[in-house]
Amino acid sequence: MVRRRFKRILLFLLVLSLALNLSYAKGKGGRLEVTFLDVGQGDSIFISTPGGKNILIDGGKRAFPPYSKFDAGKEVVLPFLKNKGVKRIDTLIATHPDMDHIGGLLAVLDSDIQIDKVLDSGYKHTSYTYQDFLKKIGRRRETKYYQPRAGQVLNWGDEVKAQVLSPAHLFRDSNNCSIVIKLEFGDISFLFTGDAEKEAEGGMVSRYGNRLKSTVLKASHHGSRTGSSLRFLKAVNPRVAVISCGRKNRYGFPHKEVMDKLARFKVKVYRTDYQGNITFTTDGKKLWAGTER
Ligand SMILES: [Zn+2]
Repeated sequence: MVRRRFKRILLFLLVLSLALNLSYAKGKGGRLEVTFLDVGQGDSIFISTPGGKNILIDGGKRAFPPYSKFDAGKEVVLPFLKNKGVKRIDTLIATHPDMDHIGGLLAVLDSDIQIDKVLDSGYKHTSYTYQDFLKKIGRRRETKYYQPRAGQVLNWGDEVKAQVLSPAHLFRDSNNCSIVIKLEFGDISFLFTGDAEKEAEGGMVSRYGNRLKSTVLKASHHGSRTGSSLRFLKAVNPRVAVISCGRKNRYGFPHKEVMDKLARFKVKVYRTDYQGNITFTTDGKKLWAGTER
């Protein structure tokens, strides 16, 4: 009799501890946060998953003295990560090896932040910056290096779904080789496009069609007219678009044609050159946006 009672109490305690554990896990994380960093003319995006994984996509430019003293890695990305208390990055992604995307990643690779995995497009750029990038990864023994292809599912925790949508194969130019990722959390989704242009976009439309549909679209290639083709925008059908570009940049980004298309589709546009860092927070149902300016 006493033993049975004891068993019942034990069972009760077990159920109680499980329940407490679950609510603890839910209360601790529970939200997905995506920040588009203002790195001037370039891209850098920091993602913190509901399960607590840290992802960094691109890092803006590096300094190139005497032509340019600004180093986005040292001056924007690292201070941001430090401020957040990030000591470990689960996945660092170089969408493609252009200067305005991997330049600032060099400082991150030089820092004491632990980096578990690096995803690289595999496009062989001949620049010193790309050679440096590969060398620095090679020096980090614990860091694994991958070249993902379209269709690959990324393990960013059970709460979210992350999939590589492009490239399916290497293109002849670096922009179209950009690693494109769709990230879903409940009803809210993000499409990170790097500098993908019409060729890569066309490939994605034929492969995925309306499955490209996403709540937030990072307009590809800083809002260049070489991307954001009509059929791609129709398939993605975003509620919000983010343009990451430098103030009064010499390329004229974002191009008027792209802004006109986004306006026609009634897409709400955020721009890092006007608004600084832009942070989206979601519980999987609602989406909140916060801007620095
Ligand atoms: Zn770029």
